[in-house]
Amino acid sequence: MVWFRRDLRTGDHPVLLAAAERTPRGLGLFVLDEELLRPSGPARSAFLYRCLRDLDEQLGGRLLVVRGDPVDVLPRVVRAVGAGSVHVSADFGPYGSARDDRVAEALDVEFVRTGSPYAVAPGRVVKSDGKPFKVFTPFSRAWADHGWRKPADTDASTLDWIDPADKDGGPRRVRIPDDPSVRAELPEAGERAALETWAEFRDERLGDYDHDRDRPGVDGSSRMSAYLRWGCVHPRTLLADLGPGTYRNELAWREFHADVLWHNPTAARKNYNPKFDAMRTDTDTDAEDNFDAWCRGETGYPIVDAGMRQLLAEGWMHNRVRMIVASFLVKDLHVPWWWGARHFMRHLVDGDLASNQLNWQWVAGSGTDAAPYFRVFNPTTQGEKFDPHGDYVRKYVPELRGCVGKKIHQPSGVPGYPDPIVDHAHERQVSLERYGQIK
Ligand code: FAD
Repeated sequence: MVWFRRDLRTGDHPVLLAAAERTPRGLGLFVLDEELLRPSGPARSAFLYRCLRDLDEQLGGRLLVVRGDPVDVLPRVVRAVGAGSVHVSADFGPYGSARDDRVAEALDVEFVRTGSPYAVAPGRVVKSDGKPFKVFTPFSRAWADHGWRKPADTDASTLDWIDPADKDGGPRRVRIPDDPSVRAELPEAGERAALETWAEFRDERLGDYDHDRDRPGVDGSSRMSAYLRWGCVHPRTLLADLGPGTYRNELAWREFHADVLWHNPTAARKNYNPKFDAMRTDTDTDAEDNFDAWCRGETGYPIVDAGMRQLLAEGWMHNRVRMIVASFLVKDLHVPWWWGARHFMRHLVDGDLASNQLNWQWVAGSGTDAAPYFRVFNPTTQGEKFDPHGDYVRKYVPELRGCVGKKIHQPSGVPGYPDPIVDHAHERQVSLERYGQIK
């Protein structure tokens, strides 16, 4: 039995090879686990269901989808179909790894973990003294030196997929749920879309990535994050097309954050740097109102509002703007980073616990390798610098479409557009004073 989780594909999939070594016939399973579905908003859920439909099609309509707690579901299905072993790619997240230990214990057949969603599994790269890395650059060097395997040669025909409906008294199959109604315009889901998106980026835009990746108004990044999140493609497949360079470095960030979370599972909820536990944050009703305005994209700071509205419109936000809106929430509104992280996880189709929480902590200053707390992004000059013609803001904030060029970042008295909810220069001072108290 192959239990799919964050690996919704059949290409470059060593788990299929490990299963095929035991037997040519396999059953594909996905478990709809409430624990994982609950924090997802409609866009994330819809994207997942579409990926499942794509996988099901590849398996000839034979993917078994069951709702429930995997600790109950797995032993039940194994018994019903008479599976001899269960194969997964290892999960290194705090919930997933503990769940897998419990499932392995509940099974009376072997639970085989092969590979992971990463080129180099979390925990594999350590410093010469055996301790985990806390700083990205030396990690990325050691990670590149460690290297990774070539893509595995697999496809849907690596196993003969059995139809669970053929089994007498077999497990009851749940239909892949219908998509919840989504306002967000989502990218096409599934493995084929992932490979096409990659090929198009590699052939047409990778050459300009260094320059264009920081420009939210330009289609300069790869948009591979959701596919990597759900395993529609393995990072190894991308790395096989890449030499050293900026793009490979970005993939290394994804692996670094997974490594940090693996060594520090509490960093998903708590400050990585405990010094920040003493940092004063605002959580009163004014802060709640500010937070709501931030979520809606109505702060009166155009680049922040454009980003927050892009998140709702597309289930994705440009990386530069993620940094700007996160900095604004933490350092201008003084709201705890985890409020923002939770909102991101609900709406981002690529929402990934390790990348999300640790990037939030990086911006907040409480993470590894953190941006120095005293470096507070100015949302106006960030907008002017990275969206110099205002194209990005104009796309997502229709009220400002009449503003010309760079002036769009300092609108005043535009009908229908709010005045700034806070004064950046003042809030920056407040942040620095609070930081001074814990330094
Ligand atoms: P590209 O620029 O094309 O990068 C290629 C790939 O490299 C990405 O798909 C991603 O897998 C990886 N990558 C790039 N930058 C980072 C980074 N800083 N950290 C980790 N991986 C990176 N990324 C997520 O995948 N999931 C998240 O939940 C997430 N939350 C974030 C929250 C905040 C506050 C910030 C500042 C960043 C977050 N990121 C997250 C990182 C980054 O913004 C996205 O990976 C990127 O915008 C995805 O778009 P892309 O695929 O076009 O990126």
